[in-house]
Amino acid sequence: MTDDYGGVQHWTDLLTQREVWQDAEGVIHRLDDLPPDRCARIHAFCMRQADGVYDLIGMQLAAAPEMSETATEAFDRAFDSFMYDTTPAAWLAGTPLLEALRARSYDLPADWRTCHCGYPLVDEKGELWDHSACYPGVIID
Ligand SMILES: [Zn+2]
Repeated sequence: MTDDYGGVQHWTDLLTQREVWQDAEGVIHRLDDLPPDRCARIHAFCMRQADGVYDLIGMQLAAAPEMSETATEAFDRAFDSFMYDTTPAAWLAGTPLLEALRARSYDLPADWRTCHCGYPLVDEKGELWDHSACYPGVIID
């Protein structure tokens, strides 16, 4: 599954997923396998580059290929909200990758809506379940 992410050009290519991180040597790591302190450092590393990443993504959006009229309208709305409704840091912190890194830095699963055990962290009434005995790789029969 992690092979799908092999050889990304830049870590910003990983912003839309909650599963993996690629280190400086190009090695792909599952976020759930990385220790919390390392995820906290990666999160800080990303946030320090918020302004540059914001500009980079903005340029990529502006260079998007021609689209149908409906797609263009949807794109224009997305672009406007990207450009005007937020700050670079707030935008970056809200991407799936950064949310996942933040969850991992608190030792929560990268996809924090689901625990390591596969059950939701919060039930349908919004109440927290006790997952204190769960750990990465736990098997529930
Ligand atoms: Zn659990």
